Amino acid sequence: MTMTDSIRFEDLGLTEPTLKAIGELGYEEPTPIQARTINYMFEGADVIAQAQTGTGKTAAFALPIIEKLDRTTRTPQALVLTPTRELAMQVAEAFHSYGKYQRISILPVYGGQPIERQLRVLDRGVQIVVGTPGRLLDHIRRGTLKLDAVRTVVLDEADEMLDMGFIEDIEAILQETPPERQTALFSATMPDPIAKLAKRYMRDPQRITVQAEQMTVPQTRQVYYEFGGRDRL
Ligand code: AMP
Repeated sequence: MTMTDSIRFEDLGLTEPTLKAIGELGYEEPTPIQARTINYMFEGADVIAQAQTGTGKTAAFALPIIEKLDRTTRTPQALVLTPTRELAMQVAEAFHSYGKYQRISILPVYGGQPIERQLRVLDRGVQIVVGTPGRLLDHIRRGTLKLDAVRTVVLDEADEMLDMGFIEDIEAILQETPPERQTALFSATMPDPIAKLAKRYMRDPQRITVQAEQMTVPQTRQVYYEFGGRDRL
């Protein structure tokens, strides 16, 4: 993983329990997206980050969200929208591992999972909700998910959500959150409807672009030859 040489996790304002958790995961230095995004996330600025999976984007938003949580209440303070249930589970899992030494509560919500369990947990109270737009909207409309205390909304893989036809659901959800919220948008590409969404719902966003990870070192030349099976030896 490409690292920036100067910035350390300690310099980014992370507390001891978080440093311990990520240390155990083997994270030694922030990736470029983390080095450039975490401060803005702490400041409460809106962020548009053009970054693909594999760049460490999840920790770039999850670590500051965990650090900024108000531990005294169990109301949803951060909301992460993902295109698929797999990503929702993966992001929720990342929050769990980063928050291992802190008392934080996270709920993944997605379609296809019985709603009763989600209702029970929501009723008890959660601080971070990660979910797919359709099911989130379902909860909002039932009145089981209250968003008036949400301070940060993350749109993860926004271009994928667009491709899956979620753009109207995303807008409907954003409209249910306080207008003074922080909005962070992560997307590998910036198609027009995503740029428009950003323009409409984000204030003075900081823009960050990181290159996709190189898959091979430049010194390696890759070659292939096609043969029939009997000529293989
Ligand atoms: P993501 O782009 O968020 O899906 O992360 C890609 C992978 O990189 C995940 O397996 C993370 O656990 C890992 N990762 C994230 N940040 C770091 C880091 N600073 N050092 C090492 N691995 C990391």
